[in-house]
Amino acid sequence: MSDGNLNARHTARMARKKAHIDASIEKANQEKGLLLVLTGNGKGKSSSAFGMVARALGYGMKVGVAQFIKGRSDTGEEAFFSKQANVEWHVLGEGFTWDTQDRERDIATAQAGWEITKKMLNNPDIGLVVLDELTYTLKYGYLDTDQILDDIAARPPMQHVVVTGRGAPDALIALADTVSEIMDIKHAYRAGIKAQPGIDL
Ligand code: ATP
Ligand code: MG
Repeated sequence: MSDGNLNARHTARMARKKAHIDASIEKANQEKGLLLVLTGNGKGKSSSAFGMVARALGYGMKVGVAQFIKGRSDTGEEAFFSKQANVEWHVLGEGFTWDTQDRERDIATAQAGWEITKKMLNNPDIGLVVLDELTYTLKYGYLDTDQILDDIAARPPMQHVVVTGRGAPDALIALADTVSEIMDIKHAYRAGIKAQPGIDL
């Protein structure tokens, strides 16, 4: 086939593709507060959520973050974002012991954390709420999944929620609008490299 012919075929194909994309963009015309779930064993769940925090702040939105993490570790994201005027930042996992070392205490910690979270989920001024590592509190049964999903579903209609953590329960995935599972292909940690500031924390 001549070059001219190839180019003409390419142009026609691209025109068809553009018509198709334009039609699907036109069809996606609803607006609503989204529930996103970032799960899987690969690296990039929390950092993706914090990327959305940066995006939302760029639009002048208010953002709430609740971190249900084990123990306390100083992270770059907390150091940076908690200083921003439009950010409310809660580290709620400081008391977790996990793996039944003190299950009653973990349940109490998670429930107290959820009470704080609910205030953000009830506040229509907050445009984005990140529930970082929430899945573990569901997996271990510290919080009741049905109750948590009801509370998330009852949030203001335009509020977005991002949940991160491995092993997202099926019911959470069913409720979500957007779900990504990040696959672990390789991680530097397994080559003996310790967590690097700015990359891992
Ligand atoms: P990140 O915060 O970097 O986006 P994440 O939220 O996807 O990671 P978590 O399970 O919350 O992953 O783990 C947080 C920490 O563990 C980070 O320091 C991250 O680099 C590291 N990590 C994530 N996935 C893996 C993995 N597959 N193997 C080893 N370490 C990992
Ligand atoms: Mg994480």
